[in-house]
Amino acid sequence: MTLVEKANAIATEFEYTPQQVRDGVKEYIRLMDVGLSNNGEAMTMIPTYVTKVPNGTEEGVYLAVDLGGTNFRVCSVTLKGDTTFTIAQSKIAIPRSLMISDSKSLFSFLAKQISDFVEKHHSDHFAEDSGHHLHLGFTFSFPVDQKAVNKGYLLRWTKGFDIPDAIGKDVCALLQAEIDILGLPVTVAALVNDTVGTLMARSYTSPIKTGTLVGAIFGTGTNGAYVEKLARITKMTKPDADAGEYDKSTGEMVVNTEWGSFDNAMKVLPDTPYDRALDKGSVNPGIQMFEKRVSGMFLGEILRNAILALKDNAGMFSTATIKEDCALYTPWSLDTSVLSYIEADDTPNYLVTRETIWKELGIHGKISSDEAQAIKILVHAIGKRSARLSAVPIAAIILATGKLGNTPGPGVEGLNLKDLSLIEQGVEIIRTAVMGKPAATPVVDTPPSTTTNESSTKAGKIASDDTIDIGVDGSVVEFYPGFEEHVRSALRDVTEFGEAGEKRVKMGIAKDGSGVGAALIALVAYKMA
Ligand code: ADP
Repeated sequence: MTLVEKANAIATEFEYTPQQVRDGVKEYIRLMDVGLSNNGEAMTMIPTYVTKVPNGTEEGVYLAVDLGGTNFRVCSVTLKGDTTFTIAQSKIAIPRSLMISDSKSLFSFLAKQISDFVEKHHSDHFAEDSGHHLHLGFTFSFPVDQKAVNKGYLLRWTKGFDIPDAIGKDVCALLQAEIDILGLPVTVAALVNDTVGTLMARSYTSPIKTGTLVGAIFGTGTNGAYVEKLARITKMTKPDADAGEYDKSTGEMVVNTEWGSFDNAMKVLPDTPYDRALDKGSVNPGIQMFEKRVSGMFLGEILRNAILALKDNAGMFSTATIKEDCALYTPWSLDTSVLSYIEADDTPNYLVTRETIWKELGIHGKISSDEAQAIKILVHAIGKRSARLSAVPIAAIILATGKLGNTPGPGVEGLNLKDLSLIEQGVEIIRTAVMGKPAATPVVDTPPSTTTNESSTKAGKIASDDTIDIGVDGSVVEFYPGFEEHVRSALRDVTEFGEAGEKRVKMGIAKDGSGVGAALIALVAYKMA
């Protein structure tokens, strides 16, 4: 076998077939249902207490802060009510000493930064009796047990933080207490997860006025949030559920899926020797198995493992000079941007690929066109599989929420609309029994196909009401060449979608998602309070 033939053989191992996509979607829908009814399963399906998504008409000035690692970001977002916004922001490095201090030291530091920011950008709010008050969305990227839109108890610190006295406390209350000591006209209105921020930011800026269904991140990691019917989140709606306070009037709530851990049991995810080597060398073997096949933190390492196989079994780089400490031999040394450069390479004789191998893999001497071509084949296979896998949660959520006009959920197949309305009434009766009072809106949506909106009744035209809007963020989806097209091709492979269903899906980047999203969640929380 020539080197290129061997590379093609490895590429075949990365193929994610239409049948596998369909099997993946089926398993994802099953695990969604499990996660919505039970706590403690692999895909945690966390209720976020965000019960409404914006439509672009929202107005006002809102604050957003983000504590996620080395920096603390403060920003104010001016929502103009016409899907546009302006944003002012500042970023402050968190002193190392505060990361391992006590909660008062950390949160008083954060409040001081908010104070400086408000004084600089919103001095009018300081005027005596101005009556102005700012609402703030707090993005806090550590594990919390959320009990209300503005209440979350810290479970544990990660990323180098260690402040024992904060564990078990409500982080919004800790921040609010320090804000109050400074006398700032600021209320911590919402605790925010970044995927929910992406969903909200897209829903505000999107040209699709029916609201965004999914917010998805494909960056260092991958995760998604979507709008679910409250009645389906049975782990919080059943009588003995340990749920906090929330507004029930929309009958919906955004759920943070934590889909990075989809199918940790490895029932349907593809598996290759290169994936297994990555998992074995990771800090959390057997965990985040979906993420390990999809997101930026991992694709470079999968590629490195596959190249090593070519080197060991097919004479790759036999004429090159390879040092012991080069990137090829260093685990986790390849950035996913390397895959993007090689994927995009259309130069004669793979010049860009060869230069990238030289620079990024640290391999010198003669690199043949065949060697470069072999690596390009591997890159393409790994990137394509990542994108096709990304279609699985998206397709599954669209199907499970009935947005395709299909009848969602098990046991209701083949029912007509009259039956559906009977089910609505039934669900309403059960809801009343479970929660004591009827919801203001029906629990089960009328399928999109029955809408009487004028534009959607025009034959042959795909109306905006039929469009299913997905907000995305992250360097992989933004920069990997052809990523969206591969996602779309996999969507077409799902029987219920086909070409017509795939066309109804619109994907858009949610720019400044974290700041704008957090501001919008603060707005929604404040307006619904
Ligand atoms: P984060 O998810 O940490 O907020 P990003 O969305 O920028 O930040 O994602 C960072 C990840 O994206 C890293 O794993 C990096 O390897 C990968 N990445 C950065 N640039 C590119 C690129 N041009 N193409 C594909 N992946 C990229």
